[in-house]
Amino acid sequence: MQTDEVIEKATEVINLSYLKEPPVDVYALAKTYGLEIEQQPFPEKYQHISGFISLSNGSPKLFVNDNDSQNRKNFTVAHELGHWLLHKDHLLNDPNLAVLFRIPLGTLNQDPLEREANTFAANLLVPKAMLDAYRDDKGQRELAQMFGVSEEVIGYRLEHTRETPRHPETQTTQE
Ligand SMILES: [Zn+2]
Repeated sequence: MQTDEVIEKATEVINLSYLKEPPVDVYALAKTYGLEIEQQPFPEKYQHISGFISLSNGSPKLFVNDNDSQNRKNFTVAHELGHWLLHKDHLLNDPNLAVLFRIPLGTLNQDPLEREANTFAANLLVPKAMLDAYRDDKGQRELAQMFGVSEEVIGYRLEHTRETPRHPETQTTQE
C-alpha cells in the first residue's frame, strides 16, 4: 500500500467525523468503526505489549494496556484502528498481526504493515489541517498536550508536514 493511500484513509476518517479541533478522540473513532475497547493493566509478563485486537467470540475487541501513559494509549488505539481499517483481511488470517509491541520511537520498523499502522496513527492523531492551525503559535510541548501525543510524535508531524517539499508526507512516522 502506498503511503499516500494510508494518509488519505486517516484524513478520510477525520473528515467523516467532522472533528475540527484537537484532541482527536480516537477511542470514539475506534468504536464508530466497530472496535470495542477494553482497557486493563496487562499482566507482568506482557508489559512489552501496548495493545492487541482479539477476534474471538465473534466481535472484534481492542485491548489496551492500562499501565501505559494516556499519550501512549491514544497512540495504541490509533495504531490498532489503522490495522483494523487497512489490514482487516490480513488480521482475519493472522490475529498476531495486531499485537502492538512497545518499540522505542524512531526505531525503524521493518514490517511494512507496522509502518502503515504507525503512519495512519500519526496522521489520525495529528491531522495536518489541525496542526497547521497552531504550528506557528505553539511550542512543541504545548502542541503535544493539545493533541494528546508525545513530543516525539509532534516533532515528526511538524517535520513531515512542512510546506516546501513536493510530497512532504511520504515519510513514515514511528512510535
Ligand atoms: Zn501493529
